[in-house]
Amino acid sequence: MKKTKIVCTIGPASQSAKIIKELLIAGMDVARLNLSHGDYASHTKLINTLRSQARVLKKPLALMADLQGLKLRVGEIKDALVLKKNDKVMLSYKKMPGKSFLPLQVDISKFLKKEHRILIDDGQVELRVEKVARGIIFARVFVGGKIISHKGLNLPDSKVSLSALTDKDKKDLLFALKMGVDMIALSFVAGVKDLETVKKIIYKNRLKKNEEPWLVAKIERPEAVKNFDGILKVADAIMVARGDLGVEMEPSQVPIIQKNIIKDCLRSAKPVIVATQMLDSMIRNPRPTRAEVSDVANAVVDHTDAVMLSGETANGKYPVEAVKMMARIVAETEVSPYDDLPANFLGDDKHSVVASVANTAYRMAREVGAKALVGATLSGLTARMLARQRPQESDIIIFTNSTVVYRKMALVWGVRQFLMPTCKTLDELVNKSMALVKKEKLVKKGEKIVLVTGSPVGIRENLNLCEIRTIS
Ligand code: PEP
Repeated sequence: MKKTKIVCTIGPASQSAKIIKELLIAGMDVARLNLSHGDYASHTKLINTLRSQARVLKKPLALMADLQGLKLRVGEIKDALVLKKNDKVMLSYKKMPGKSFLPLQVDISKFLKKEHRILIDDGQVELRVEKVARGIIFARVFVGGKIISHKGLNLPDSKVSLSALTDKDKKDLLFALKMGVDMIALSFVAGVKDLETVKKIIYKNRLKKNEEPWLVAKIERPEAVKNFDGILKVADAIMVARGDLGVEMEPSQVPIIQKNIIKDCLRSAKPVIVATQMLDSMIRNPRPTRAEVSDVANAVVDHTDAVMLSGETANGKYPVEAVKMMARIVAETEVSPYDDLPANFLGDDKHSVVASVANTAYRMAREVGAKALVGATLSGLTARMLARQRPQESDIIIFTNSTVVYRKMALVWGVRQFLMPTCKTLDELVNKSMALVKKEKLVKKGEKIVLVTGSPVGIRENLNLCEIRTIS
């Protein structure tokens, strides 16, 4: 069974019940809904289809609502605009007459200066600013191409000081919370403030205490890379959003940024997703390029929790084949020794009881050749602390009484999760865990497991016990 999780972006190519079922069977763990497109009625229908298919297959599918954030975009253009090198073009938030005019959705004129670059459509078209006057940007085409409505804009030389949460995002966030999604991803995060704003709204509007969705910070701006330490403290999970990151920064910098982010996430036991263009050619072709296969394998070797498909599953010709291919690459890479964590990789957690117990449980499991690390969790922390060790020989089996935690675990490396009723005493918890391990045939008679839990039971984030048991 593969341990690295797969996030699939759902779109026109994958929103039917039939394809969703096939994606789940192929290995989808998290479904990402892009709230940039579509209306609430269609998102509601899609969420219901995803939940019902997961229920039928008894799979713990997590739903991630992705907020568009401050994605700068070209406005509505009637006909495609074809630009050639050295053409002059005007851009503005205000409507203007003329053929060489590009409408904008937000006023960005105050952030631009002479010589600043304006990149359109993932950098396919490049403009250079010549002057800015009365809210109008006068630019010259440096690299030409065709522009259609709503293509993305990046301003790699400009400091854009607008909040990452737009008015549309606020409405989308309230909708997502009402629908009880498990994760909210915020695009174009610049720093901690953006995340704190969203967290406040989440806490105020959550359906139930302790059941609030995780906040996933998408790292796609240079400011987010610079402010990453602070972002990691506030976010619940991280996405390395390499598409925009590779436009806002030099693409050559992205692979090392990816490695550094994953390493920091592992140390703080926060799930991390590597995203974008992983099997991009499968949008058009039934087989990926060898370089794409290597990219997925390398993300596994980097120890990511999850890999993500975007256009491949949202609007590609081969959505199910892309997930099957990704699952195969992940599984083959995981059996190699290259994704094993070097000793002492995680450093010293001198002051954390939870980390000490999780580290000890992991060491015990290795020393006695335990088949599984078995934990019960109220918040999911036990699972994250065990997963960050990336155990190779022992499975991670997690029991929880919370359906939200059960689904959130779909993003955490290696975790196999099961629902269990609330227990009042430690004895009851241990007995029920042992019974479930046997009932689900997770471990064979005579094999050892390491049980990890907290006493007294019923307290969150209170991991303080581990014990070796042999299955009778
Ligand atoms: C990205 O830019 O890599 C990314 C994941 O963003 P989007 O939400 O636009 O796909």
